[in-house]
Amino acid sequence: YAKNQSELPYAIFNEEMLAENRLRLELGSELRHSLERDELSLMYQPMVNLANGQTAGFEALLRWEHPEHGPVSPSTFIPIAESNGLIVEIGLWVLRKACQQAIQWKEDFGRPFMISVNVSVRQLSATGFVEAVTEVLDETGLPSQFLKLEVTESLLMQDPEHTIDLLHQLRDIGLTIGIDDFGTGYSSLSYLHRMPMDILKVDRSFVESMFDSDKNAALIRSILALASSLELNVVAEGVETEPQLQRLRELGCHFVQGFHFSEPLHPDDAKATIHREWIAE
Ligand code: C2E
Ligand code: MG
Ligand code: MG
Ligand code: MG
Repeated sequence: YAKNQSELPYAIFNEEMLAENRLRLELGSELRHSLERDELSLMYQPMVNLANGQTAGFEALLRWEHPEHGPVSPSTFIPIAESNGLIVEIGLWVLRKACQQAIQWKEDFGRPFMISVNVSVRQLSATGFVEAVTEVLDETGLPSQFLKLEVTESLLMQDPEHTIDLLHQLRDIGLTIGIDDFGTGYSSLSYLHRMPMDILKVDRSFVESMFDSDKNAALIRSILALASSLELNVVAEGVETEPQLQRLRELGCHFVQGFHFSEPLHPDDAKATIHREWIAE
């Protein structure tokens, strides 16, 4: 009896792991068919320029509508796609789709804007990524200065020398590089100043806790100071309230994104926001 009891936690742990593994495998193999079955789509969240209150661009965010489970969050399926290698194919689809969308909007805008695409490090470091990006730009006719790639900070330091080299190549063809979820990754400062990048995206968690304590306020101020000394533009993500917006403005943040302005939108709805003035003077 005593023996059984001591084994119990171990057994439960195993079952949970099995169930989770089964789900991952199941989702992983279904994800394989998601492209041909047309279950993937992109939503677009406006990024607002605080200097003029206008739309500076959009971030493309991937959606998967599973035939039985309904919408599956990218936070669930992107890691699966990264581990089974599907991210390379899916990522290329995202890139092409986003660039096609941007070329359509380019006409409607009549002024420059950015399309931001999230790129996983597994995708970035796969053979031929820079060539694939060049090809998509050629194929769609989108000028490279309209495209921004977002790479998550926590993944940058896995193989920093290789990443630095790749990001240089991407910048050489005219792309903008953004570091996503900044502040959650433990970047070494010595690598950070060598990392070819243009924009730093302050992680949502810092915006969320901005008013919790003086320490939290100091934290976001020091991220902005770091960005300014590295001569980077700053985007704050996850802006949900007017006070957050006002404070970020005072602190010298350049761009904002978040539910306070808009959720990620269907392309038709995104298009309708193109000429909106987001900030009342
Ligand atoms: P991310 O790139 O940091 O994107 C921001 C996430 O925050 C998005 O979640 C967005 O919907 C959400 N968000 C935006 N504003 C607010 C706000 O005011 N409040 C709150 N609570 N959330 C907000 P989503 O779309 O679920 O994406 C989650 C993550 O999945 C992304 O984080 C990104 O890392 C990844 N992801 C999404 N699409 C792609 C893709 O095409 N490729 C790759 N590699 N990763 C992707
Ligand atoms: Mg992003
Ligand atoms: Mg982010
Ligand atoms: Mg994220």
